Amino acid sequence: MSTQVAGPEIERLIQLLARLPGLGPRSARRAALHLIRKRAQLLDPLAEAMRIAHDRIATCSVCGNVDTRDPCTICADERRDPSMLVVVESVGDLWALERADATRGRYHVLGGALSPLDGVGPDDLNLASLVARVASGGVKEVILAVNATVDGQTTAHYVTDLLGPYAVEVTRLAHGVPVGGELDYLDDGTLAAAMRQRTAF
Ligand SMILES: [Zn+2]
Repeated sequence: MSTQVAGPEIERLIQLLARLPGLGPRSARRAALHLIRKRAQLLDPLAEAMRIAHDRIATCSVCGNVDTRDPCTICADERRDPSMLVVVESVGDLWALERADATRGRYHVLGGALSPLDGVGPDDLNLASLVARVASGGVKEVILAVNATVDGQTTAHYVTDLLGPYAVEVTRLAHGVPVGGELDYLDDGTLAAAMRQRTAF
């Protein structure tokens, strides 16, 4: 049992911060204290930014990305190559590829990977919209930027079969991605290289 050192409002702030990835109870406490000390510079703007993000966040009806506009910033960007479609499992993977500046193509977010053990089937993923995008024409290459996990590879095979009837080239990331590796945890250089050296599926 830890002793309560602050009122319930502050304890609640600490508890919520502790649920963030990468923050344990101790670092959540430090973060809370920092926020309280820097109220004008940090706490107030953060609260405002969170409120605005909460109110405006939307899932892109084209690609499944999360943004404050629909279509999302990437889909709305005319400079991005519409002939290249990068298929990712999650928004986190999309962000990782963008952070690595790995592609000028467009994205499609599946919202997960096929996982028979976890009961995730094809109907649980954004596959129909992927097929519809490919079927509507203009896409020349579909790059499967899925995790190098069993579920990721199962998904890659399934998508490849699904796109078989269409005149698109299906490629996958090079094996710079370690087996079992999740894209979000790769350094930017590895990720960009895996994209450049992608291979036919
Ligand atoms: Zn989008």
